[in-house]
Amino acid sequence: MRKTIVAGNWKMNKTPSETVALVNELKPLVASETSDVVFCVPAICIPAAIEAAKGSNINIGAENMYYEESGAYTGEIAPNMLTDLGVKYVIIGHSERREYFAETDETVNKKVLKAFEHGITPIVCCGETLAQREQGVTIDFVRQQIKIAFQGVTADQAKTAVIAYEPIWAIGTGKVATTEQAQEVCKAIRECIAEVYDQATADAIRIQYGGSVSAASAPELFAQDDIDGGLVGGASLKPDFGKIVNYK
Ligand code: 13P
Repeated sequence: MRKTIVAGNWKMNKTPSETVALVNELKPLVASETSDVVFCVPAICIPAAIEAAKGSNINIGAENMYYEESGAYTGEIAPNMLTDLGVKYVIIGHSERREYFAETDETVNKKVLKAFEHGITPIVCCGETLAQREQGVTIDFVRQQIKIAFQGVTADQAKTAVIAYEPIWAIGTGKVATTEQAQEVCKAIRECIAEVYDQATADAIRIQYGGSVSAASAPELFAQDDIDGGLVGGASLKPDFGKIVNYK
């Protein structure tokens, strides 16, 4: 009943001209009736991506945005700058932003609220470090991240949100979480949403797995009960992304 959503996170890769070439290359490969498809691209590449994706099933998303409307925030991107271009999704709280750009659960929450205020669907990232996994605190930690990220979010808003569970030790390492590990945490996230809201909200929200997703690992991961697609880094820049989108 939940539609699969497969999003690419291009991170800090591709210039605007390279964006046009890559969107054009991937466009025929990612055509899909069964999955929603999102390309989250660097802010400066968004206009080029939107233009190149016209007439296709590709939705263009941002990789970040700020939580203020406008003002003296040098270098930041406001939500209405994204909606003005037709952006529908924004990644919020990616572990790289938490690690290198001092984002916290609190700033993530502010950004999530702001995204909803502007009708942009947040892809809310969570996930543990290797040390936390080894200490056995993964589920507690991820539940805490989700609870804070969703503070003040209504059930109707939460139903439309996307959560990406990305174990940090699996990002860019080629080390994919096992299907069981990924399903276990995604199930715990859904249970957390049911506790905070209700079962209907938990049943509606879409939860992705991210971390070294490939054409080989996607079919088994996305077939799990609580995994509704993926947030894909490296493989979203290659023709393989078409295979990931059309994993069935
Ligand atoms: P990789 O797929 O390159 O591991 O990146 C995952 C990720 O961080 C997506 O947001």
